Amino acid sequence: MDYLPVFLDLRGRTALLVGGGRVALRKAELLAAVGARLRVVAPRILPELAQLVAASGGECHPGRFAPQHLDGVVLAIVATGVAEVDAAVQRAAVARALPVNVADRQELCSFILPAVVDRSPVIVAFSTGGRAPVLARALRARLEAMLPAGLGRLAGFLGSRRDWLRERVPAEAVRRRIWERLVNGPAAERVLAGDEAGAERLLAQEVATGGEAPQGEVYLVGAGPGDPDLLSFRALRLMQQADIVFYDRLVAPEVLALVRREAERVYVGKTRGAHAVAQPRINELLAEQARLGKRVLRLKGGDPFIFGRGGEEIEHLADAGIPFQVVPGITAASGCAAYAGIPLTHRDHAQSVRFVTGHLRDGSVDLDWEALARPGQTLVFYMGLVGLPVICGQLIAHGLTPDTPVALIQQGTTPAQRVLVSTLREMPRALATSGLRAPTLTIVGTVVGLHARLQWFRPGEGKDQG
Ligand code: SAH
Repeated sequence: MDYLPVFLDLRGRTALLVGGGRVALRKAELLAAVGARLRVVAPRILPELAQLVAASGGECHPGRFAPQHLDGVVLAIVATGVAEVDAAVQRAAVARALPVNVADRQELCSFILPAVVDRSPVIVAFSTGGRAPVLARALRARLEAMLPAGLGRLAGFLGSRRDWLRERVPAEAVRRRIWERLVNGPAAERVLAGDEAGAERLLAQEVATGGEAPQGEVYLVGAGPGDPDLLSFRALRLMQQADIVFYDRLVAPEVLALVRREAERVYVGKTRGAHAVAQPRINELLAEQARLGKRVLRLKGGDPFIFGRGGEEIEHLADAGIPFQVVPGITAASGCAAYAGIPLTHRDHAQSVRFVTGHLRDGSVDLDWEALARPGQTLVFYMGLVGLPVICGQLIAHGLTPDTPVALIQQGTTPAQRVLVSTLREMPRALATSGLRAPTLTIVGTVVGLHARLQWFRPGEGKDQG
């Protein structure tokens, strides 16, 4: 290691900053964020910087640097942009054995400022030793994505219960077991989701059972429409800590591949009309596995609460007293619309959007056609491929003009995405020769007319467009 990483407590201490421009401002922001008093020396000082100095209870010294500016400071940062001035300040600081950092002049630095991911009180600081700032930025982006936003909250929660737990559980081994279960179990997830009261209840249970309470939990997670990049951070985190996953047909293989490798995988998919595993049985399976103490992942395409029967599954869990949490996903309507360049609402076209199931019951689609045929709205039909000719016919019969544009999107957001654009009148014929297959989503409304101009995602370039 070329450097010793340390975390400095600068609260109320004076830090010297020589320089009054943009670079100095960025350093000042960092120093101010940790409560340092700023002493800024520069012939010209940006107004924002001067404000920051005032807010920190510090001083501005307009003019040139002089060695007495180092009196009483604990460290110096130099960002004048003038090589000789930088070097002169650096020499003066070194002469007093003060830690000094010179912006963009690593050879003059006795300390460097790391890249930081701030989840206070958790702070991750890292450095490439000044060699690869772009790499540092890329790493930081990854860490930002990896570390839950509520991590600081979790550290705060755990910290605030330490004395409490020590009093109640004197045996150190038991206490350690409880801590580990708190950090790795449902209690931590509660706090990360902002539910400290829920975590508190689980902690009480742990104390009552000496760290032996069953910890099973169900995560009902929306896997999005297909592109794994559309998963939420929380979805990914829960996927990576599951012991068993129940997934269905709409979950893309690329998404399933992100589930923890060791997790048992159970397919409970349904295809139209044929249920691989009946819904009540799925509900039971989730509860059974959670009762065994497992972290059960129920992974569903799109959003679990939109045509996903997610509500039924957690109703059953709620009745059975099993803890669960629900993570929303990007629903097919949002995913397909975005990737096909079709805004679902638009000031000139549609003031509302309706998500409708186009599922056929006894060969007919049983819907409120009057309401659906009103102008000024966008209709999105899920599960509507087989019923599409009926849907087009009914919308025309109830007053939509036959020229109303319609888009049929197959496997939206994936490399197999295809978009077929037509009109209510022509779509049934276009569909017959298109070779499109489920899953598809149908969007009806004049917003579809924007597709030709706004499409940006064109897998299999050239096919079926327009
Ligand atoms: N919960 C899901 C919807 C489940 S219903 C969601 O929020 O997206 C299943 C229907 O969703 C399919 O019949 C199809 O109409 C639609 N669907 C899901 N993913 C899709 C995709 N990638 N492309 C097109 N349609 C999709």
